[in-house]
Amino acid sequence: MICDRATQIDIRELVKLHGPLPEVIDFEGERLVTAWTCTAFGGRRQWWLCPSCDRRCAIIYRRGTGPLWGCRLCMGGRYASEHKSVQDRRIQKATKIRKKVGQTSGGLTAPFPIKPKGMHWRTYDQLRAEAQEIEKRVWAAEMAWLDRLKCKT
Ligand SMILES: [Zn+2]
Repeated sequence: MICDRATQIDIRELVKLHGPLPEVIDFEGERLVTAWTCTAFGGRRQWWLCPSCDRRCAIIYRRGTGPLWGCRLCMGGRYASEHKSVQDRRIQKATKIRKKVGQTSGGLTAPFPIKPKGMHWRTYDQLRAEAQEIEKRVWAAEMAWLDRLKCKT
């Protein structure tokens, strides 16, 4: 048992408490997989591989439906609102737009929803353009972050 009734698990806190985790963890029936990257100072750092999109992430969040856990992009910001970063706010903003056009799950890693019946194309196009603009910045920041994790040889 990792923690009681968790809605999010920060791997950095787990590692601090228990030391490095096994590569595969069985947590309440869900298979959680971890991965390693190098740090700038020759050390190693452990991450979650998001069960939904396979990206490396430090914190995974519990879902209501579908796969039980996902990263913040897959969860679309349904998590604690404290200590929100610029990136968190971007993710939540884009997720809110996706909800307006009818998306119910999958977060930003899911395809953008098709136009709902009864919504004007102009409204839909505006919302989609707005979401795309924000999501471009979300992905750029994620890529920059992943780049920094790469091992330098
Ligand atoms: Zn994910």
